[in-house]
Amino acid sequence: MSFSGPKHYRVESAKSLKDRPSVRASVTSATDTFNANRSDAYSQIDSDLWRDWARDVKSHALTNLDQYLEQAETQLLANGAKVHWADTAHDALRLLEEIVRDHGISTAVKAKSMLSEELGINEHLEDLGVHVRETDLGEYIIQLIGEPPSHIVGPAIHRSLEDCQRLFHEKFGTPLDDGPDALAATAREALREEFLAADLGISGGNFLVAETGTVALIENEGNIRLSTSLPRVHIALVGIEKIVPRLEDVSGFVQLTSRAATGQPIGNFFSLIQGPKRDGDIDGPEEVHVILVDNGRTRLLADDKAWEALRCVRCGACLNICPVYRQTGGHPYGWTYSGPIGAIIAPGMLGIEEAMPLPYASSLCGACVDECPVRIPIPELLLHWREKAVEKGLTSAIESAGIKAYTKAAERPAIFRAAGAMLRHIPLEAGGRALPILSDWVKERSAPKSSKKSFMQQWKEGIE
Ligand code: SF4
Repeated sequence: MSFSGPKHYRVESAKSLKDRPSVRASVTSATDTFNANRSDAYSQIDSDLWRDWARDVKSHALTNLDQYLEQAETQLLANGAKVHWADTAHDALRLLEEIVRDHGISTAVKAKSMLSEELGINEHLEDLGVHVRETDLGEYIIQLIGEPPSHIVGPAIHRSLEDCQRLFHEKFGTPLDDGPDALAATAREALREEFLAADLGISGGNFLVAETGTVALIENEGNIRLSTSLPRVHIALVGIEKIVPRLEDVSGFVQLTSRAATGQPIGNFFSLIQGPKRDGDIDGPEEVHVILVDNGRTRLLADDKAWEALRCVRCGACLNICPVYRQTGGHPYGWTYSGPIGAIIAPGMLGIEEAMPLPYASSLCGACVDECPVRIPIPELLLHWREKAVEKGLTSAIESAGIKAYTKAAERPAIFRAAGAMLRHIPLEAGGRALPILSDWVKERSAPKSSKKSFMQQWKEGIE
């Protein structure tokens, strides 16, 4: 199974709600836990202060991106790493292919990286004849099932324990009642062999430090540490927006990101990668390649409002709290990044035409903005993209005509009163189906009963 594209969102989300109730149950349960843990972790610090700081550091880095990227490149080269620039996904795959061919790579282990999903790394490696193995437990599970991730931090949260028990029973012959610890131990044993045999390790990068040329990685399982230190070649795929100016910035971000993502004060493992193995080092790769990827990010940066979305540290907090995401999980969104963050970066990175209708996959309740560790104004950006969609004529003609008619009527009190009086006599439950502008609304919910009197009449009569 692969992503079907944002344009199928309405159909896929309806299908998920109707045909896959277990997805809703699994996602709700997992996100409830994430939310409770985050709320607890935020309450232990002055989270408002930390989030203001994080917003300012990331905004500063993004508004001086060219300067910091050049500085990072200089430092990485001085550290002995090789630096590559990829404008597009195609460029990144070509660079990967060159490294694979130059080094005679036949097996690769991969740490969790959303950028690698965005670029389609696994499919490309397989086409090149490279055996590639996901090593994050959640990614490992969905690779065995043959699905893409459904969440930035918990790629398999749409799957229940029973799903995993059945999967491991089929693949490894484990007892059907094995608990999470036993299942993890089985995966660990199988993965250990793959780590030892791999020629290439692939990772992402949570942060790239300009001052020192350091790729910083946060994780809980230790698989990133092994993927980046055991194989003879390491490739780090890093989005250009991951830059931070100073090493000391990372110490704040690692704590804030961990709190926002999983509610931990800090992830279990934290790796700072500066380059290949040096003389006297007992482990580490012979070569480290850092591929700096644009793939639509500068296009998003050029938007005078939506650029703020590039501050994202991919913690997943906005997905966990979103009442829309929580119903279906991430697959119906149709591309790598789902939930509120996906809905605001898709139009900038893919183009608004390609991203429709994701900016509308939100109730605009604003819960996401209250949780975001880098204070991205998500609801404002959703409205920004909706405005662009209207300007480009991408919304329903009936809806636009209805809103235009409403605007005209609202500007003329006599017409507004007359139209209101007429509509009050239509029973909305039945009328909603008859009026095209309301038909989608009443499909899934009951329409309110029409009031007998207008708001102004009730106001004058003092009725609450
Ligand atoms: S938009 Fe904010 S809350 Fe959502 S994933 Fe990015 S950093 Fe986290």
